[in-house]
Amino acid sequence: MSKSYVVIVETKEGKLRQVSLEALHAANLLREDGDHLSAVLLGHQLDDAAAELARYIEGQLLVIDHAELHTYQPELAFEAVIQALNALPDEPKLILLGHTAIGRDLAPQLAARLACGQVSDVTAIHKDGNRITFTRPLYAGKAFEQTILTDGTGVVTLRPNNLAPAAPAAAAGTIVPLEFTPPSTLQTILKDVVRKVSGKVDLTEAKIVVSGGRGVKSAVGFKVLEELADCLGGAVGASRGACDAGYCDYALQIGQTGKVVTPEIYIACGISGAIQHLAGMSQSRIIIAINKDPEAPIFKVADYGIVGDLFEVVPLLTEQFKEV
Ligand code: FAD
Repeated sequence: MSKSYVVIVETKEGKLRQVSLEALHAANLLREDGDHLSAVLLGHQLDDAAAELARYIEGQLLVIDHAELHTYQPELAFEAVIQALNALPDEPKLILLGHTAIGRDLAPQLAARLACGQVSDVTAIHKDGNRITFTRPLYAGKAFEQTILTDGTGVVTLRPNNLAPAAPAAAAGTIVPLEFTPPSTLQTILKDVVRKVSGKVDLTEAKIVVSGGRGVKSAVGFKVLEELADCLGGAVGASRGACDAGYCDYALQIGQTGKVVTPEIYIACGISGAIQHLAGMSQSRIIIAINKDPEAPIFKVADYGIVGDLFEVVPLLTEQFKEV
C-alpha cells in the first residue's frame, strides 16, 4: 500500500526557507517507489514561492493561499495543514518540517491530532530497509539519541543545515490550490512582524556565522564583525555576554537559551566558550576561535585557533577575503 510523505514548507519574506528544501531532500531519500510525496505551502501571495517550489518536487504541491495566513497564527496554520492533509490521496506516513519556531509549534499539534509519534531536532537520518533511525543531539550536543518511530508513522522536525537541500526535480510538480475556510479563532494579530534585526542572512540557516562576545566590547565593535560576515555572505551572531552588555540584540544570541546554529564555518571572536554558549554552536562543521587568551575554553572545541586581538585579526581576515 502506498504511503504519503509530506513536507510542510515555510517561506520567509516570500522566499522558500532552505530547511524546507532539506526536508524535501530527506523525504525523497526515505520514500519507496510508489509512495507519494507532497508539499504543503501556506501563506498569502504565494505565486512566486509556489512556482519556485514546484521545481523541486515531482509530486503534488498543495497550496493554501489566504489573506488570513499572511502571518503565522498557530490556530489558523494548524487548521490549514489539517485541511491540506485531508486532501491527500492517502494517510500521511511521515510529516517533515524544519526545526524552526513554526515547525516547533506545529509538529506537536500535528502529532497529537494524528495520534502518532514525534521526533524533534533531527540532525541525521539513516534508513535500513523499512527501519528509519533518527539521530538528534541531547544535553547541549554532548550526547546523541537514536530514535525510531515504532509503527513508522510520525512527525519529524529537522535542524537546519544538517542535510543536503533538494536538487531541482526532473519534472516540475503539480500545483494544487486548495480552498481554505478559516476557523473562528480566539485571537487576531493586529500588527505584523516587527523587525528588530536587519539580518541579511538568516542566522539559523547561515552557512557562515561570525559571532562576537564580551571581548567585542561595544556595539560599534560589532561593525567589524558585520564587515567580515558581509564579505563572506554570512550572518552575525553573539554570546549572551555580548547581548547582556547591550552590544547587540538578543535575537543574535547563540547558545542554550538562544539560537542553535550548525553552519559550515563558525568564527567565534572574543568569546570565552562557556558551556551554555557551546550548546548552541558546537555542532558547527568548522569552528575558528579568535581570542587573546590562549587558555580560553573555546580553543578546546575549535578546529582552528588564532591567539590575538580580534580588532587586529578580524579586519585582516576581511581584507584578505575581499581580495579572493
Ligand atoms: P566572557 O566569558 O567574558 O569572555 C570574553 C572573552 O573575550 C574572553 O575569553 C577574553 O579573553 C576575550 N577577549 C577580550 N578582549 C578581546 C580582544 N580584544 N580580542 C580577542 N579576545 C578578547 N551564554 C551564551 O553565550 N549563550 C547562552 O544561550 C547562554 N545561556 C545561559 C543560560 C544560563 C542558565 C546561564 C547561567 C548562563 C548562560 N550563558 C549563555 C552565559 C554563559 O555562561 C557565559 O557567561 C557567556 O557565554 C559569556 O559570554 P562571553 O564569552 O562573550 O564573555
